[in-house]
Amino acid sequence: MYDPKSAKAEEFICHDEVLATLDYAQKNKSNEQLIAQILEKAKERKGLDHREASVLLACDIKQKNDEIFTLAEQFKKDFYGNRIVLFAPLYLSNYCVNGCRYCPYHATNKTMPRKKLTLDEVKKEVIALQDMGHKRLAIEAGEDPVNNPIDYILDCIKTIYSIKHKNGAIRRVNVNIAATTVENYKKLAEAGIGTYILFQETYNKESYEYLHPTGPKHNYAYHTEAMDRAMEGGIDDVGLGVLFGLESYQYEFAALLMHAEHLEARFGVGPHTISFPRIKHAADIDPNAFLHGIDDDIFAKIIACTRISTPYTGMIISTRESQACRERVIHYGISQISGASRTSVGGYADAEREHDSEQFDVSDQRTLDEVVRWLMQMDYIPSFCTACYRAGRTGDRFMDLCKKMQILNCCHPNALLTLKEFLEDYASDETKKVGEALIKREIERVKSDKVKKMTEDYLSKISQGERDFRF
Ligand code: SF4
Ligand code: SF4
Repeated sequence: MYDPKSAKAEEFICHDEVLATLDYAQKNKSNEQLIAQILEKAKERKGLDHREASVLLACDIKQKNDEIFTLAEQFKKDFYGNRIVLFAPLYLSNYCVNGCRYCPYHATNKTMPRKKLTLDEVKKEVIALQDMGHKRLAIEAGEDPVNNPIDYILDCIKTIYSIKHKNGAIRRVNVNIAATTVENYKKLAEAGIGTYILFQETYNKESYEYLHPTGPKHNYAYHTEAMDRAMEGGIDDVGLGVLFGLESYQYEFAALLMHAEHLEARFGVGPHTISFPRIKHAADIDPNAFLHGIDDDIFAKIIACTRISTPYTGMIISTRESQACRERVIHYGISQISGASRTSVGGYADAEREHDSEQFDVSDQRTLDEVVRWLMQMDYIPSFCTACYRAGRTGDRFMDLCKKMQILNCCHPNALLTLKEFLEDYASDETKKVGEALIKREIERVKSDKVKKMTEDYLSKISQGERDFRF
């Protein structure tokens, strides 16, 4: 029944295989010899399958758990270096016909003010985001064929790419909208989107159907097979994620990796990113009403085990998490974070933070300037790089470079160039001082003399007002 190559949701996320995996992991959680073998295999840097990874997640031997975290930190450095890419979500509309029990935008929430940005309002939001220094957005919209049809989404994408305010530009628009048809995915691909992101929420079909009692999202197979349709529609990069807290984390972890294995088996390329949201408080949503919440220790372990199981996949954490939590897990493999996010529709252009239409409470409420400085003070390079997608390095072309660990040769200088742009155009004096010192240190770490010379040349041109250099 379990078949990673199958196009059918219930065969590539086979419930019986998940249960057998959890049983295997539980029985081997103290099997030192097997855990040591799996860690040896992990060190080959080619990834682990869902059964092996689940054993590591269940492992209860302290010394081996320490090894898991150390290895995750090492992988993070080897594959991604010390750069962290920054992005912001942009909420276009909170009209939604679905009945998701964990989201305040569900259709039966009659107290939620419904808003949909006009193209003029999109422009104002984008200018506000550009004025902070953002270059990458993830657009979000509820599912509503009348209020948020695909043409509306396409018009918004076109508008976002067209706005050039002062030195600002949004250079990559990732899209997080409901599961749709191959035809619509083709349209999104043609509109030049970056990654198509769709959270599975939960892979457990029974829980899924309970949590999505009404609306088109109720259809488990249609939702779970969405990434296949996206790839058939020509979208190279897809982003997976579950909402931790809805189901047992062990189930979600095993199934998430099975989904990644399925994409690799069927399309020859795994997910571009995996996101790690945990359920949070929002308007009429109480996270304590869900029985599977996870604490920070388990959360960190999930992130570390994912890092060593899928070394070449970007990993994302949002402002749902506090500064303290982000500070902890960033070392174990996170490669992208959001900064200065507003999770309400129209939240950026309004001078005052709006609370009435937020999708979830934001824990980390710092400004982008503060987030950038914080990263640099931890010796990370905040990056606004969007080079790969614009240079056509997507899908298997990107993965190939990533697997050979060559992508770092682009990421590192690109991070420095985009940070320099941020420092010139948007940073406070204090941030600029920290940033200039970091660039000076980091430029010495560029291995190739030719690339170093070019980077220095580009940096000097950015100081003189030129923009948008990339490797
Ligand atoms: S999670 Fe998405 S589909 Fe579900 S209610 Fe919220 S906006 Fe709608
Ligand atoms: S070079 Fe490519 S992989 Fe590296 S940060 Fe830029 S866009 Fe991402």
